[in-house]
This record gives sequence, structure tokens and C-alpha cells, in this order.
Amino acid sequence: MQHVKKEWIQRLIYSIAGINVAMMLGYAYMQLWPPSEKTQIFWGITEPVLVFCVVNIIYLLVVFPKISKGNLWISTVIACAMLGILSALLIETSQQSNSIYRLMTTVMLFASAMTGPFVPIAGLTMVWLLYIFTLLSVVDPSRTSVTFYTAWNVFHTVMAYLGWLIIRKYYVRDDTRDLKKVSGLLEEEQVKASMILESITDGVIVISPQGAVQLLNKSATEMLGWSKDEATGLDYKNLLIPQAEGNTSQPDSLKTAIDLSLQTGKSSQKVNLFKTRSKDSVYFDIVASPVLLNNAVTTAQPEQFDGIIAVIRDVSAARAEEQRRADFISTASHEMRTPVAAIEGYLALALNPKLSQIDEKAKGYLSKAHENTQHLGELFQDLLTTTKAEDGRLVNHPEVVEMGEYLDKLTGDLRFAAEKKGLKTSFATATGTEAGSKVIKPLYYTYVDPLRIHEVITNLFDNAVKYTESGSITLGLTGDQNTVQCSIKDTGHGIPSEDAKHLFQKFYRVDNSVTRTVGGTGLGLFICRKIVEMYGGRIWVESELGQGSTFYINLPRLSEQQVAQYQAAATAQQTAQPDAKQTVYAPEAQSTG
Ligand code: ADP
Repeated sequence: MQHVKKEWIQRLIYSIAGINVAMMLGYAYMQLWPPSEKTQIFWGITEPVLVFCVVNIIYLLVVFPKISKGNLWISTVIACAMLGILSALLIETSQQSNSIYRLMTTVMLFASAMTGPFVPIAGLTMVWLLYIFTLLSVVDPSRTSVTFYTAWNVFHTVMAYLGWLIIRKYYVRDDTRDLKKVSGLLEEEQVKASMILESITDGVIVISPQGAVQLLNKSATEMLGWSKDEATGLDYKNLLIPQAEGNTSQPDSLKTAIDLSLQTGKSSQKVNLFKTRSKDSVYFDIVASPVLLNNAVTTAQPEQFDGIIAVIRDVSAARAEEQRRADFISTASHEMRTPVAAIEGYLALALNPKLSQIDEKAKGYLSKAHENTQHLGELFQDLLTTTKAEDGRLVNHPEVVEMGEYLDKLTGDLRFAAEKKGLKTSFATATGTEAGSKVIKPLYYTYVDPLRIHEVITNLFDNAVKYTESGSITLGLTGDQNTVQCSIKDTGHGIPSEDAKHLFQKFYRVDNSVTRTVGGTGLGLFICRKIVEMYGGRIWVESELGQGSTFYINLPRLSEQQVAQYQAAATAQQTAQPDAKQTVYAPEAQSTG
């Protein structure tokens, strides 16, 4: 209820204390240098006044600071009331002869408006009651004339009202003045916000940091098949049940954007296949953002958030459309691959001097046709692999692979293609630790399909050969506790930095004189990325123009315990199904570059 800024209340308290001190000094003066009786009566500073002033000062110095901490308004009202009593006492002890005390009452009524309208109203009520009682002779009759008394009371009333008006206009705390306005605006804002929330077609769910649903809009209730009452308070995992999709072995594949945001406290977006109460399978694109109330943004731990807002969009129709398009490309590439392979075969036969006799000119034409048919075959192959990689239908039989041994063997197989072009090939693995006379090399275990990783490394190696005129190609292997890092480094043309970030997109080829002369589809690196991501890994390139490029692949590293677990599971499966066929290498997986 405090009505004005604290400084004004402070000034009021100092003034009341000043009046009390003045009275005490006045009393002391009169004791030391007693004036005439008339003067003593005029000032009326008697012992009861002195006692009351002492009580007043004790209140202002000791009690007021304590109460004001809890409630400034109450403590100020008490101070005003005590000044009112002091004025009344002085009016009485001065036998109503001193108008200064009446003026003091007026000032008190004026200033007490600082605490709002109640104190001046209470003060005026007392003043007017006393007036009525005096006229009715219930109390001692006034020593002044009725006209004078009435005039004073009217003056009190006018001043109290003026005090209320002036303080309200000029000194009222901004927040008190704005409070009504703000609460009105807030109400309006709330109505607007809930109107927007209820009318948008995207589902919106507010989730607590513990994962409990706190609020959901109408669209969310329709999408999930839960009413607001049923869903509120439930764990969001009951409403949105993620489903496995395709053949990904990425450990986080079932994690939704909400899971990720709750874990990291950061915004995330992800499309997942879900089972809900109303639908068995539906694709939702979820954007989850942490809610930061207070000023958590500026705190040392930004992950301290107050909940998650998830915006859900049903993308099943768009997904189905994409799927139809992918199916078409996949079927078309598959169907066209067979006749192209036949044409390529016949052209090869025609070019074989042991099987057919053709003149040099015809041989030249047929060689060109053969090259282009080969390119066409590669393109169909890559298109087929791309569509499969996109919808998670790539053949994938992961097993434990020790990358050191694997890459060593692979380098041996690949080196011929490089040597044909005069390029040196080497494989450098991380140096091991020395144990006695032996060097123990670290073992880098991963859980991947060796055929898929073969595809990735071969594609990167083929590119290195294609885009390097002279020098060497180095395969590298290193890692830390959680990661295995493979690299393919060449001393070729390098890649401009503006192209490097787009390289892993579909059909992206650097447009320069080199790529114009070297054939390619622009799909190889996209397929590599899809495969690496399927295993929860990451692929990127670092390159310097004219110096060469290094492609890096990071894959999750298995601990020895995980290796043992996977191997035990594989042995158990083998025993249970002794006739089970080993990995079948799908022919479409063989060329991707
Ligand atoms: P393709 O080689 O069939 O064109 P990729 O997706 O394998 O398709 O490669 C995309 C592009 O990246 C290539 O066209 C080439 O410009 C660039 N590129 C890939 N590897 C290298 C490399 N080792 N050195 C220079 N450029 C490269």
C-alpha cells in the first residue's frame, strides 16, 4: 500500500522526528529559562507531551526501522497516527490557544496522503467526530468560537484533499500508478496469447524439465488423441512413442527433439516416426526449445531451463510424397540399369579385337560410347543407392570391425588404382605404446557394416586418385577413448572453401576445369555422409587450394566391454541359427563415386 517513493516516506519520518526533537528542546529551554505563564500555556509543552515525544522518538528510531522492513505502509501509518495524537495533545495542553498546532494537524493530514487515501480519511473522521462531540458537549467545549473551529476543520479537510490530489498527481510511485494499467494489459495479452495458441494448426506442448506435460493446445490434443485433462501431468513419452525406422543402427535414432532438448537445454529439431493414441504411425517434425524464465540466460549455467516448448507438425503427407518420388527414381534406375549393363557388355565385346574386327575410326566411336555407357551405369547405381540411403533402406549388417587391420588390408587392395596414375599410397596408423621390445598398437573397434565402410573409403580414395595429378595419397587412423578417426589425404588440386561446405549435398560438384574433364555424378560424397551418419558418425573435409585435401571420418569407438558383448551376441545368434546366411553384399552397393 506504500504509495510514494521510499525517499518521500523517509523525508516524512525525518520531519516527524524533527517535530518531536523540537518539542523536547522546547521543554528543556523552558526548564532552564522559564518564560511567563502565558507563554508556557501558549506552547503547552508539559510533562505528558515530553513523555509522548520520547515514546515517539523511540518508535521512530528503534521500532520503525524494524517494522518498515516487513511493511513500510503499516510503520508509516503508525508514525502519522502518533503525530496526530501529539498534535491533539498539544492543542489540548496549549488550551487551544496556539494555532501552530492546528496547522501541524493540517500538515500531518496533507502529508499522510503519502500512504494512500485511508490515513487522511481516518484523520479527518477523527477531527470531525471531535468537532461533533464538542458541539454536543460530549467532550469539553471548545475554547475557540464555533465559526473559527468550523473554519479550521474545513481547512483541514481541504488540505487533506489537496494533499491527496497533489501526491497522487506528482509523487505516486510509477509502478503503483501503472499497476492497474499493466494488469489490464496483461489480461488482454493473456487472452490474445491463448487465442493464438488455440488457433494455430501446429501442436504446441509445454513440458516441465522433469518431462511432465504442463499445457497443450487444441491441435496437439487432436494430433495425439489425448484430451487436455488426461494429458496434463503425464510424462510426454506416453503421448509420443517413437518408432524404429529403416535399418539405422545409430544409437540416437529413437531420440526425439524433446529428448535432446531436455538433455542439452538447447533448441533442437528432428523428424521421427511416432505411434500415438490415435495413429499407429505418423511422422512428426518437432521443434523443441527450452523456456528460460527469470534471467537464466545470463546465469553461469545456461542449461538451467524452466521447461520445454515443443511445436509439433504432422509431416506424414510430405513424407509419403517424398517416398513416392524416391520409389519412382529407385524403380526407374533399377529398370534402366539392366539394359545399360547389356549395352555396355555388347560394346565391350565389339571393342575386343579377339571377338570382332572393326576399323580404327569405328573403334574410336565405340570407345566413346563405352565410356559414356559406363558413366550412365554409375549414375543409375548412385541414384539407386542415394534413394535407399535417404529412406533408410540401405542394406546394413553391422558387426565389430577393427579399423586398423581393416584399413591396412583395404589400402593394399586400393593402391593399384593409384599406382597406375603414378601416385604413392601409404597407411599411417596412430603410434602405439612401447611394452618391452614390442610396440602395442591401439585397437580401434567400431560397430559398422564392413561393406558399407568399404564403400565410403573406396569412394574417398577414388576421388583422391581422380583429383590428384601427382604426389601421394595417405590413409590415416587415429582416435581417442570415444572416437575412431579415419582420414584420406591427397596432394591434389584442393577444394575452394566456399565449395567445401556444400560438398556433401546431393549432386554437388565443384565447377572448375578439373571437374569438367573428370567424370562424376556428384552423389558419391552424399552417399558417404548418409552411411557415416547411419553409424552415428561424422564426415568432413579440410582442404587448401593447390595443396591437397583431407577427408575425415569420425565413428563411435567401442570399448573392450562392448566388443565382448557384441561378439557374444553374434556367437549366440550363430548357434541359434547355424544356417543363417552371412552378410549378403548387395550389388548396388559396389560403386558410389
Ligand atoms: P563426383 O566425384 O562423382 O563428382 P563426389 O560427391 O564424390 O562426386 O564429389 C563431389 C565433388 O567434390 C567432386 O565433383 C569434386 O569437385 C570434389 N572432390 C571430391 N573429392 C575431392 C578431392 N579429393 N580433391 C578435390 N576435389 C574433390
